[in-house]
Formats: sequence, C-alpha cells, structure tokens
Amino acid sequence: MEQNENLMEKIVSLCKRRGFVYPGSEIYGGLAGFWDYGPLGVELRNNIKDWWWQKFVTNREDMYGVSAAIIMASRAWEASGHVAGFSDPLVECEKCHKRFREDQTDGVCPECKGKLSSARQFNMMFKTQTGAVEDSSATVYLRPETAQGIFVNFKNILDSYHPKLPFGIAQIGKAFRNEITPRDWLFRSREFEQMEIEYFVKEEEWQDNFENLRNEVKNYLEEVGVETSKISELEVAGDDLAHYSKRTIDFEFDYPFGKKELCGLAYRTNFDLSQHSEFSGKDLNYFDEQTGEKFIPHVIEPSLGVDRLVLAILTSAYIEDELGGEPRSYLKFNYKMAPIKVAVFPLLKNKPELVEKAREVYRTLKKEIGAVAFDDNGNIGKRYRRQDEIGTPYCVTIDFDTLGENPDLLDTVTVRDRDTGEQQRMKTGELVEFFKNKIS
Ligand code: ATP
Repeated sequence: MEQNENLMEKIVSLCKRRGFVYPGSEIYGGLAGFWDYGPLGVELRNNIKDWWWQKFVTNREDMYGVSAAIIMASRAWEASGHVAGFSDPLVECEKCHKRFREDQTDGVCPECKGKLSSARQFNMMFKTQTGAVEDSSATVYLRPETAQGIFVNFKNILDSYHPKLPFGIAQIGKAFRNEITPRDWLFRSREFEQMEIEYFVKEEEWQDNFENLRNEVKNYLEEVGVETSKISELEVAGDDLAHYSKRTIDFEFDYPFGKKELCGLAYRTNFDLSQHSEFSGKDLNYFDEQTGEKFIPHVIEPSLGVDRLVLAILTSAYIEDELGGEPRSYLKFNYKMAPIKVAVFPLLKNKPELVEKAREVYRTLKKEIGAVAFDDNGNIGKRYRRQDEIGTPYCVTIDFDTLGENPDLLDTVTVRDRDTGEQQRMKTGELVEFFKNKIS
C-alpha cells in the first residue's frame, strides 16, 4: 500500500511538473474537487475522446452524435429522478463538523475520530438560476450526467434521420456533481467529463446488445492502453442496482488507492424515455414500419468517465526501469494516446547547420503528424529522459552524418525508441510514412 501511495504521489507530481494536470484555481489556494488540464493533459484527453468518438460513432453506421446544452429544463431532472433522488446519505462529525458520505466511514469521523450524526440526504446537483430575478421558477441545474441530454433529443433524432432499431445516440461532455468528499485526485471530482451512449433496442433484444457493447467497451479500454490485468468486471447485485436498471456491470480498475469503478454498462429498460414522455407530454414512441407496432425502446448505456480513464491510463503507463545503467521513469503510452508522438533534436545547439536541418525535419513532421516537439535544451541524454517522462514514443536526432560527414549517411537521422532506447538510422524522406504507419 505504501508503494501504491508513492505511485500516486509520483504520478500527481509528474503531471503537475510537466503540464498534464494542475490543481484548479491554484494561485487562489485551489478549489476542492476541481482540476485544470495543461498542454499535455489536454492532448491526452483529446486522444482518449477522439478514439472513442471514432470507434463508437464515426466508424459505425448505427450511431448519432449530439452535443446537448449543459443546462436543461428543470422538468427533465424531475423526470429522470435526479431532483428527488440524486442524493447521498451524509453524516456529520459532531466534533469537527466535517461531512462525509456514509458509505465512506466506519462509524467514526475519518479525520478526528469524533462521533457521527445520523445520515441525511444531500442532493448532489449544483443549482443556479437563469434570468436576473432570483425566484424559484428560474432554478436550473448543472447536469450531473450527460445521459439525459441524449434522451431529450431522442425525438429529434427520430424526426431528422428515421433510424431503424437498434441504434445509438452518443455524447461527450462535462458533468457536475457536488461530491461531498472529492478525493483521490481526478477520480472523484466535482466537474468531470463523460462519454456516454444510449443504445436503443427492442426489449427482447437487450441481452445480445448488452453483450456486444460489453465487448466493445473492453476492446476500447485495451486499445487506449488501460492494463487489462488491472480491470475486473463487477456484476452489480440486485439490491444495489439503480432504480432504473435491470442489469449493471461496473468495470473496475486497480487504482493505486484500491479497486474502484472506472466505467459502467447499464441496461436502463425504457425507464428514462417513459418518464420524459410522461413529464413532457410528448409522444416518444418508436414506430416499427415492418410490424406496424408503436413502442418505447429499451436502452443499454455504456458510461465512461474521461478523467477516471486518464488516471487509469497514467497508472498503466507509469514505469520505472534502468536504461544504460541509469534509473529512469517513463510513461509507456501507446502511439495513439501519446500527447507528443515525435521529438526532433539537433545533436548540438550551437551548430547552426545542425539546428537549421533539424528545424526543417521538424517542420515537415509537424505539418504531417501534428503532435511533434522540437528540443535543443541540455545534452541529448537529458532530452531523451525528458521525452521518456512524458511518454513520447520516438526521438529523431539530426547529427553530422545527416549533413554528409559520412557521405553514405547523408540525409539520414537516428530514430530512438522510447521503450528499448534502441536507435536505428533512417532516411529523412521515410520518416513521415514510418510514423503515419504507427497509428493504424
Ligand atoms: P461512484 O459510485 O464512484 O460515485 P457512480 O456509480 O455514481 O460512481 P455513474 O453515475 O455510473 O457513477 O457515472 C458514470 C461514470 O462517470 C463513472 O463510471 C465514472 O467514470 C464517471 N464519474 C462519476 N462520478 C465521477 C466523479 N465524481 N469524478 C470523476 N468521474 C466520475
């Protein structure tokens, strides 16, 4: 456990130092449960989201993307059950007056061991208001999940596209929960991002579709670099199921602080659409042209948290080893996820001909590949370590042979592999293709 605590500290400090994740509002002392992503963190998140969107939306014929407003009509949250039921039992310490989730205590205050009050309900939705006048009719909420933004657009998608069942609607976006005890860094925060699909099916076909999506989620987790040996599937028992669900699987991950939910797959029946139909008064039936039947489809929901994925990928990728007799730490991101794919160096900073050639190679790669860095700071060994630490898979070095000192090697560069430290010589003209092939 101590080793794991160290691991968490190492990851958090690396991420801060190198520009992946910063504490939110840091210059004002921070704000509990909020985090800011820096340049490398943004790239990693974008890679996670792009891969998901490509796999589940772009590459399929049966998926429709939406991006709904974060603030929705409050009636929608009454329909979904969030206004009445989205609350955690909360206990308060009678001594230090701190509040905790009941399920996260062992009967005494985790901070001062004081006596805890009996549990009270605490709604986790952030409330705000629209319009200038603060009256109750204008109360609105920041959405606590992206799913409802999908359900309220179900009819729009039917009307615009007339899709046949089964089909899905997908959305990536921010969600907000006023977590009582934000903790474990990105794992439990108050503002986070979700990637959700509502996959609409005929009731009798829910099981097959559940299994298909379960496999697709597993494949996705593997493809983005979550260590499969650290993933386990938890079949949520009947008593613990959410009110709308008939079957739920939690995909858990072995985080440094324990095995916890990374993402979930739920069969939500036709609960949500039925509720929205009742509360909005709108007909949300699907019309089956073949059988002439009208019915409200059932739904399977894979729900993934981007930030919990960031942490799972970082935990999976963080490696300490020895290279050339020296200890090092590096992030073994796969090529698709790496925030920077290639770094280009001139061997020496003070030789203009090397720098000029290196910048030329850099410009070509940057145009074709995008996520390419240029570095001429410090000696070459230090530059390699810096790139290893942020998970850059390849470093390209321009040396005197590139310029023709050895005529046989004119216009060739060294390409160094992050994981093995091995270098190969390659023609500059072959670089773009070499790197482009890494993505497929
Ligand atoms: P938990 O029991 O850990 O609070 P949950 O069961 O309430 O999670 P869901 O409502 O199923 O979570 O949300 C779907 C996904 O959204 C989760 O699997 C997780 O990836 C992400 N998520 C939920 N709450 C948070 C949070 N506070 N911070 C970061 N991600 C979150």
